Amino acid sequence: MIKYQLHCDDGHDFEGWFPSSEAFEKQKKRGFVACAICGSNKVDRAIMAPSVARTDNRTQALPTEFVNEVPTPLISDEERELRRRLSELRAEMINDAEDVGEDFAEEARKIHFGQRDAKQIYGRTTLADARDLLDEGIGVLPLPPSFDDAN
Ligand SMILES: [Zn+2]
Repeated sequence: MIKYQLHCDDGHDFEGWFPSSEAFEKQKKRGFVACAICGSNKVDRAIMAPSVARTDNRTQALPTEFVNEVPTPLISDEERELRRRLSELRAEMINDAEDVGEDFAEEARKIHFGQRDAKQIYGRTTLADARDLLDEGIGVLPLPPSFDDAN
């Protein structure tokens, strides 16, 4: 289908869809192409400035970019942005912290009881251990997940 900008002898502008340029010429010759406003069949294609034609090409190219992008990533742009922010937050949280790995609960208690530097630490612990720590008045924050594997 082709969209034509049409123009009648009364000066009305309107748009029409045609299967092809030949179909348009045929329909016009038979007087089937009528002005959408006054019904006049003295209708012809409006002459378009090159800049208008280029604008049309550009708007038609946009969905193509979109279509190309869809099958490739498994995650949406929003998801990617969320992951990026979480990764940034994670990096910020562990920036000055020491990775104590599985010993997190133990090391956290040592800090709490003044048995080691009150340095920021991070590591892994079970939910049950984290609850115990919180019960003991030791602040524990969940660390945002790492998306290193995803990259
Ligand atoms: Zn008209």
